[in-house]
Amino acid sequence: MNSHPRIGLGIDVHRLAAGRPCILGGIRIDSPVGLDAVSDGDAVLHAATDAILGAAGLDDLGTLFPETDPANRGRDSSHFCTKAMELVRQQGLRVLSLDVVVETEVPKLRPHRQAIRANLARLFDLPVDRVNLKGKTAEGLDAIGQRLALRATVVALLG
Ligand code: MG
Repeated sequence: MNSHPRIGLGIDVHRLAAGRPCILGGIRIDSPVGLDAVSDGDAVLHAATDAILGAAGLDDLGTLFPETDPANRGRDSSHFCTKAMELVRQQGLRVLSLDVVVETEVPKLRPHRQAIRANLARLFDLPVDRVNLKGKTAEGLDAIGQRLALRATVVALLG
């Protein structure tokens, strides 16, 4: 391990909307509501990408991949992860761990937890036991509690 590990934090919020795909951590989830966005709306991958970019001291997701770029319309967010990992590797860094929290009332994440962990491990090139995922509700409070939005928060350790 690099003698100077770096920590990064990524946070992403998307509106929930009927008729939109629900893709979290690259896994498509059967849900009556999905994430509204220019891209596929994968808040977990957006937050994870921002976390690793932050730890590496690089520009953030929105700067590297502007929503105004037509190429990002409807884009599979794993593309952002792959590009960010290339930049991280160019810094001589690798991802050592990811800790992910998803706050939402719907859908329930528990049935999809292992699939999402495995896909994050694949995308960010680390063992699955170094990737954690926790689903939380907001007790009916605020926009998340009222099923209007979903928030993903990721802490990444790089070294
Ligand atoms: Mg986003």
